[in-house]
Amino acid sequence: MTTRVGVLALQGAFRAHLDACAELGVDAVEVRTASQLDGCDRVIIPGGESTTMSMMLDRNELREPLAERLDQGMPAFGTCAGMILLATEVSDGRPDQKSFGAIDIAVQRNGYGRQNQSFSDALAISVLSTDAFHAVFIRAPRVERVGDGVEVLASYDGDPVLCQQGSVLVSAFHPELSPDRRLHRYFCELS
Ligand code: GLN
Repeated sequence: MTTRVGVLALQGAFRAHLDACAELGVDAVEVRTASQLDGCDRVIIPGGESTTMSMMLDRNELREPLAERLDQGMPAFGTCAGMILLATEVSDGRPDQKSFGAIDIAVQRNGYGRQNQSFSDALAISVLSTDAFHAVFIRAPRVERVGDGVEVLASYDGDPVLCQQGSVLVSAFHPELSPDRRLHRYFCELS
């Protein structure tokens, strides 16, 4: 795979994504500035705290450059807080929090409850081989609406938890916290 993945490294669980890419032999770098983003051809927006990440995108003058690349169709993978940042609609967010609207879904922040209600479960993912994927949910967003152009690749308890629209992939869970690298591979091969 000749690709360079930029992992947004403003806050949150970015290191485990870098490790996951390294395990796959994929070149991955931390992105904190617009010039670092320039050198990448796909981006991962990690889990963490979407309100803080939203604020830091502005502080680091990264919001516009990233919005522009997303508009141009750069493949993006948003996990948990990253899903919130890529969604079109967010409920229970902070009033000043902004999202990119790169995938037509509505999400509710912390829709599965608080930190102590975090959980993990085995998921069937339509685009992967039949073995279940062990998914870790931590203060995960709940997907409340999915637009017409959005494909649901996995659900939990009837709610979508892995969605794709074109080259934008989002998960409510943290794939980087499982040893299973199939989803990172799937993302790195998206065009
Ligand atoms: N609840 C967090 C948020 O709103 C997301 C949690 C996570 O990324 N694990 O950003």
